Amino acid sequence: MTIAFISDLHLTPQRPDSSALFEHFLETTGALIEELYILGDLFEYWIGDDAGEQLGHQRIETALQRATKAGTNIFFIHGNRDFLIGSDFAKRTGCLILPDPSVITLGDRIVVLSHGDALCTDDVEHQASRNQMLSSKWKGAFLDKSIKERIDSAEEMRLHSERNKQHKSMEIMDVNQQEVEKMMREHNAEIMIHGHTHRPGVHEFEVDSKTVKRYVLGDWYEQKSVLTYKKCRSLDQI
Ligand code: MN
Repeated sequence: MTIAFISDLHLTPQRPDSSALFEHFLETTGALIEELYILGDLFEYWIGDDAGEQLGHQRIETALQRATKAGTNIFFIHGNRDFLIGSDFAKRTGCLILPDPSVITLGDRIVVLSHGDALCTDDVEHQASRNQMLSSKWKGAFLDKSIKERIDSAEEMRLHSERNKQHKSMEIMDVNQQEVEKMMREHNAEIMIHGHTHRPGVHEFEVDSKTVKRYVLGDWYEQKSVLTYKKCRSLDQI
């Protein structure tokens, strides 16, 4: 049994190589993977389930649908770019949307899964806009706009965030260690897996004198980044 974890593909028709890589991944390895966890930012941005086709993501939806029909259970946790993925998308693709954070077990170990941006509490500006955009009032008002208006404001937000990133330090945009420990303690987790920071790695530290690990998934800009778990084996980053 293989379980795979991916995040931060940031799929967009502007980067067709990443989309082709993901389609190929689902086609070739899909059959070998029993459970696939997508931990957010699958898309560069998502402006509502009614606009997937206009955004050029029809092929991705079809590939996901094919994989779930073939027997892979695909779970999805929202990222800060695709938090508007909703139940219509889930129905069309067969993916199951999970809350952030979610807890699973691998063998006898408790694992907490998150996109990761909620842990970046030093980035006060990101947390403020996150709180605003996750409110049902903001979501409702945004989804009421025309698709054209929504694409325009998503592009604007994307540019704003790109520009902002250049002025923020690497530390501010990384996870806050206290928040990590708090989330792990709350769920009694030995392992945390998240994405968002685009800084793949494995961090070992202690929480209440217990050794724990935080796995950070990489993005798919240049190549694919997949963390796999095979029963009776350890977690391998490939
Ligand atoms: Mn993100």
